[in-house]
Amino acid sequence: MVELNKAQEERAARLHGEAVVVDTHCDSLGGFLRRGREPPRDFNERGETGQIDLPRLVEGGVACQTFAMFTASGALVPDATLRALRMVDKFYEMAENPGFVTVTDVDGILKAKEDGVVSGLLSLEGAEPLMGDISLMRVFYRLGVRMISFTWNFRTPFADGLGAKRAEGKLPELGVQALEEMEKLGIVFDVSHICDTNFWDVCDVMEGPFIASHSNCRDLCDVPRNLTDDMIKALADHGGVMGMNYLGAFVAKEDPSLEKLVDHVDRIVDLVGPDHVGLGSDFDGGGRLPELDDTSQVPNITRELVKREYSDEDVLKILGGNHLRVFKTVFK
Ligand SMILES: [Zn+2]
Repeated sequence: MVELNKAQEERAARLHGEAVVVDTHCDSLGGFLRRGREPPRDFNERGETGQIDLPRLVEGGVACQTFAMFTASGALVPDATLRALRMVDKFYEMAENPGFVTVTDVDGILKAKEDGVVSGLLSLEGAEPLMGDISLMRVFYRLGVRMISFTWNFRTPFADGLGAKRAEGKLPELGVQALEEMEKLGIVFDVSHICDTNFWDVCDVMEGPFIASHSNCRDLCDVPRNLTDDMIKALADHGGVMGMNYLGAFVAKEDPSLEKLVDHVDRIVDLVGPDHVGLGSDFDGGGRLPELDDTSQVPNITRELVKREYSDEDVLKILGGNHLRVFKTVFK
């Protein structure tokens, strides 16, 4: 448990209320769709299962939640475009609730915060639905997508994922073209799940900032999905941000905890300063962390940052300010 004195509790509550809390990744969208015989979860109801729904986003003080369209898993790939389009439909249906608004720019995020409603940003995790066709990227942009990762671990026509066999090749020419198109359109590029060699190709190709929407430090938790110190420095050199992944497997090999999650924040701040770390829960991606079991508990991160005596300015940056800076740079 994060133990704070009264003054610290007040400071944490004030900062969390003031912050525009941004979470750059969750896998909740699929759960709101019917799949097989399981009934879908209801975004509007506080659920017993899952980790994100509107009531819990409100409780957790999350201002802007990114909802990823995740479709890829082997045999399902042929249906990826259809499944992504169903997720687009669900995303806009969610906005029938007046407490939730879909956004495509920073002004929209800030206005929602001012109005006291939660905003949602649409992202694509894995480029399978694009079917190797950049014109489909433009179509998804028009449908509201503002963040894309080229791969969810597998090989796509755009890049190799961490799980792809022979994943040490160069970024394909199509990936290079797609990055240029994304910079033109104003879509944030997300390196989470991309293989290491392709990560470095992205660094060479891109001039502007990119993000790792849900990745931690490999040095503290040695899994391929986390970034090495050199990668973190390169991401920072580009002005990018890493969203901290709350799922135990990415936090620590043994006894993952909220404290150990914030150790990742400390390490990034030590390495590259306070401008390159944010939140990227990965909620509903299959894992849990005590004291951060669902999105209603996000204020515990703020309490831990206050306990570690981060300045007001740095807390606000980590909770969302850093991601907003990247969004402002990239979005048109
Ligand atoms: Zn993921």
